[in-house]
Amino acid sequence: MTIRQLPDTLINQIAAGEVVERPASVVKELVENALDAGARRIDIDLEDGGIRLIRIRDDGGGIDASELPLAVQRHATSKIASIDDLESVATLGFRGEALPSVASVSRFRLTSRRSGSEHGALLQVDGGKVGEVTPHAHPPGTTVEVRDLFYNVPARRKFLRAERTELSHIEEWLRTLALARPDVELRVAHNGKPSRRWKGEAQLQEGTMLSDVRLHEALGEDFTRNALRVDHDGAGMRLHGWIAQPAYNRASSDQQYLYVNGRSVRDRNVSHAIRQAYADVLFHGRHPAYVLFLELDPRGVDVNVHPAKHEVRFRESRLVHDFVYRTLHQALAETRAGATAMPMQ
Ligand code: ADP
Ligand code: MG
Repeated sequence: MTIRQLPDTLINQIAAGEVVERPASVVKELVENALDAGARRIDIDLEDGGIRLIRIRDDGGGIDASELPLAVQRHATSKIASIDDLESVATLGFRGEALPSVASVSRFRLTSRRSGSEHGALLQVDGGKVGEVTPHAHPPGTTVEVRDLFYNVPARRKFLRAERTELSHIEEWLRTLALARPDVELRVAHNGKPSRRWKGEAQLQEGTMLSDVRLHEALGEDFTRNALRVDHDGAGMRLHGWIAQPAYNRASSDQQYLYVNGRSVRDRNVSHAIRQAYADVLFHGRHPAYVLFLELDPRGVDVNVHPAKHEVRFRESRLVHDFVYRTLHQALAETRAGATAMPMQ
C-alpha cells in the first residue's frame, strides 16, 4: 500500500462533495459571498435550473485583481484570521472553501473590480485548473459564473434532478436568504426571462416597512394576515420576527424559517422549544409557521459544526430553549386572551 498526497484539484472535488450538493447550494454560497461583500443589489441569472448556468453579479466591495488567484484557493479567506475571529464571526462565510470547491466541479469565471480601482479583472478555472488573471471590464463589484455544474464528476451529475426541481430548490434558498436581508434587492432570471424580483430599499413606498414587504413577498397574504410580530429581549438574547397564529398551520414544516445571528439554520433544540410553545394550541400532526431571528453573543454559539453551515451548537442550549419557549408561549397566550376578549367588547 502506498500513501500519496492527493492533488489540490482532487482535494477540492472531495470538499465539494460536502459543500456543493446541487445548483441551489452554489447559489447559496455565492449569494452569501455577495452579502458578505456588502452588496446592495444582487442579480441572479440561471439556465436550466442552474445546471447549465448560474451567474451572480453583485455591487459589493469586489476583489483586487492581485487576489483573484487566492480567492479560488482552498482555506483562503478575508473573513477570519485567528481562532478568536472564528469565535465571534459575523460573516456568513469563513471557511474559504466555497469558491475552490465550486470551481473544481464546473467551468468557472470570477470577474471583479474592487471599489476604488480603475479596472476589473477575470480569472477562469476549468474543472479546478486555474488560468491566468486577465484584464476585464466590470463595474465595481463581482460576477461569478458557474457553467455545467458537475460536468467532470459524472457520479454527482447523475443525481441532479429535472430543471424544475433544481429551480425550486434554488428559489427556496433565495426565499430563505431574502427573508433575512430585506435591505438587499434581488433579481432573478431563468432562461433569459425575469422570474422574480425582491424589491430593495430603493423601490420602497413611503410608510411601508421593508421587512413587512419582504415577508409578504416571501410567504404570501395568508401567512402575513395571520402573523404575530414577536420582539423580545431576555437572558442576553433577542428573539424577533413573526409567528403564525395557530389557526394558520401547515401539514408540513415547509414554512419554518429560523435564523441564528442572521444565518439560516436547522436546530432541533430550538424547533423543539417552538413546538412546545404551540403544543396546546395546535392540532396533533399540524406544524406551526414562523420566521424567527434569534440574536445572541456570537461566543455563545458555534457556527463551525458542518461545512455547509446548516447547523450550530449553542453553549447554553437549555437557556436558549427556555427563552424561545417562554417568549412564544407568552405571545400565543396573549393572542388567545385577545381573541376571547373581543366578542365581549
Ligand atoms: P469564504 O466566504 O468562507 O471566505 P469563499 O471561498 O466563499 O470563502 O470565498 C473566498 C474569498 O473570496 C472570500 O473570503 C472573499 O474575500 C472573496 N470573495 C468571494 N466572493 C466574493 C464577492 N462576491 N465579493 C467580494 N469578495 C468575494
Ligand atoms: Mg463564502
